[in-house]
Amino acid sequence: MVSVRWTGAAGLEFTHEGKTWLIDPYISRVGKVSIFFGRPQPARKTVSHYLDALPGKLQAVVVGHTHLDHALDVPEILRRFPVPLVGSGSLETLMALHGMPGKVAVCKERTRVDLPGGASVTMIPSLHGLVLFGRAPYAGEIEPGQKPPLKASHYRHGRVFNIRLEIGGKSFLHVGTANLIDDELEGQTCDVLFLCMPGWKTIQDYPGRILSRVKPKIVIPFHFDDFSAPLSKDYRAPSVPWRSEKRFLNRIAEETPDARIVYPTLFQPMAF
Ligand SMILES: [Zn+2]
Repeated sequence: MVSVRWTGAAGLEFTHEGKTWLIDPYISRVGKVSIFFGRPQPARKTVSHYLDALPGKLQAVVVGHTHLDHALDVPEILRRFPVPLVGSGSLETLMALHGMPGKVAVCKERTRVDLPGGASVTMIPSLHGLVLFGRAPYAGEIEPGQKPPLKASHYRHGRVFNIRLEIGGKSFLHVGTANLIDDELEGQTCDVLFLCMPGWKTIQDYPGRILSRVKPKIVIPFHFDDFSAPLSKDYRAPSVPWRSEKRFLNRIAEETPDARIVYPTLFQPMAF
C-alpha cells in the first residue's frame, strides 16, 4: 500500500513501508504581500515542524519546475535532509545560490531512474500552463549570481516536467501545471494521475489529451488551494472558487468513464 498526502500547491508526499518521497514540497505558504512586494523566505518553523512529523524516512525529493510554489522550500529541506534531489538545471542554480552546488541529479529526460528506497522516477518534458493573461508566468531559468532571498519573480520556471513515480508496484503521474507535450506522454500509462486544475481551460482540451494517453485508473485534481493563505489548525486551506470546476470534472468523467475521481483534502492520507 502506498499512502499519499497532498501537501498544498503541487506538493505530494508518498509513503511506502516506512519510507517517504516528496514531489514539489511547498509548506511555507508565504503570503501575498511577500510574494508581490517582498523577498519570500521559507517559514523555517513550519517546514521544520512538517519534516519532524514525516510519516516515513525521507528518501528523495523531486521537483517539476522552479516557480516559488514548487521550489521555495527545497533548499531548506535539503539542508536538513541531504537526500537525492531530482530536477532541472534551474533547480541546480537555485541550490547553488543557497550554498549547495552539485546537489541536483539533472535526470536524463524520458529515462527511468532508480531512487533510494525502491522507487523510480521518470522526468517527462512538458510545458508550463498559461495562467497569467494567456502566458506562462516568469519564464526562463533562475539566474546564477543572485543573492538570496530572491523575489518571487526571480523564481523562473526553468525546464518543466511531468513526473512519473513508481513505488510499491504502483505508478503515479504528477502534472503540476496545466499543460503537456502530447508525444512525450505516449505510452506513459499510470495507475493514479494527479492533474493540475488551475489554468486548464487555456490549453485546448488539456484534460482529454492527457487522459487519452496515460489512461489512469484514478484521477485526482489538485493545485486548487489558495497557496498564499496559511493552513488552519485542521489543515484546511481556503479553496479558490473555480467556476469551471464542474466542467473540468465532467470532462474527466467523459474521457475516462471507468476512472475514479478522488477529490483530495489537504494532508488527508489517500491509500493506493
Ligand atoms: Zn508554475
